[in-house]
Amino acid sequence: MSHLVEELRERKTLDDQGLKALLESDDQSLEEDLFRNAREVAVAQFGREIWLRALIEWSNVCRNDCYYCGIRRSNQTLPRYSLTPNEILSSCDQAWKLGLRTFVLQGGENPAAAEALAPTVAEMRASWPEAAITLSLGELPFETYALLRRSGANRYLLRHETASPAHYSRLHPASMQLEHRLACLQELQRLGYRTGMGMMVGSPFQTTGDLIADIRLIEQVQPGMIGLGPFIPHPDTPLGSYPAGSATLTLRLYAILRLMLPQAWIPSTTALSTLHPDGRKAGILAGANVVMPNFTPASHRGDYALYAGKSAPAVEAEENLKLLIQEIESIGYHV
Ligand code: SAM
Repeated sequence: MSHLVEELRERKTLDDQGLKALLESDDQSLEEDLFRNAREVAVAQFGREIWLRALIEWSNVCRNDCYYCGIRRSNQTLPRYSLTPNEILSSCDQAWKLGLRTFVLQGGENPAAAEALAPTVAEMRASWPEAAITLSLGELPFETYALLRRSGANRYLLRHETASPAHYSRLHPASMQLEHRLACLQELQRLGYRTGMGMMVGSPFQTTGDLIADIRLIEQVQPGMIGLGPFIPHPDTPLGSYPAGSATLTLRLYAILRLMLPQAWIPSTTALSTLHPDGRKAGILAGANVVMPNFTPASHRGDYALYAGKSAPAVEAEENLKLLIQEIESIGYHV
């Protein structure tokens, strides 16, 4: 085994030089070694079980103008939608009946609408007391985080996007500050949410040093969940002409973070499977242990267009789930 991978697995950390080598090396056997070790650690932790989360893309209405994101406020080409409470509850019902036990409500940042979501979250909690309810609604007033927590939500995903303030300012307008995003994460943890953070891999202007800063921040915060996927350009955004991030680099980051945080839930993301037809399987084989099938009603699925070519399953949720399970089983895992 490579001494770098061995050290990372044993000590659950590595110096910057070692991380740089793991991220940049073109030695194929080092990469295979990294993936194999991450896989072994994931299997030791979770068995060969992959956990499913029902992703419900609640709304594409967003007050922000992130330079990379297709649902940014200034994108006039996108029809905007928000699911009604009934649509949300019926997506949950469908997912529950198919055996899923975690609902993930994700959407654009819209504080007033997020606050108005509280009764729906309370209804979800009352209808499915054993379910986990994850929210991913961006930066909200702290009292809204508290209200949603009291209403029954117990997990929150808020990617930090990049841990470098200089890089952050090249991806977001001046009204958005990394410092505030990190304060939100801290507050979410204080309120007792299981929190997730993460970044886009290969976003424009990102350096290996930025990625090492991301790894260090994750190492320091020790989140319960880590969401990371490749950047994929969207033509109707200011960064639409930049190249997509690399699938391989994304996989290396899954593996490095698996070795650092063996217990973290790491989804093999939609962005990765959009970039690479075998991306989802490759993610699992590099240490990811979560897959998030899409339960957004078919009538709106195409409008949650974060990036070009986002893989929105053409088939119904039930059929899509069957295909996903087959895919997972084809590499010797189960749900
Ligand atoms: N509004 C919430 C927030 O700010 O966390 C959640 C929705 S946001 C659209 C979800 C995630 O999509 C972001 O955290 C970002 O990492 C990812 N995303 C947006 N545009 C992307 C792109 N062009 N390529 C890859 N991922 C993208």
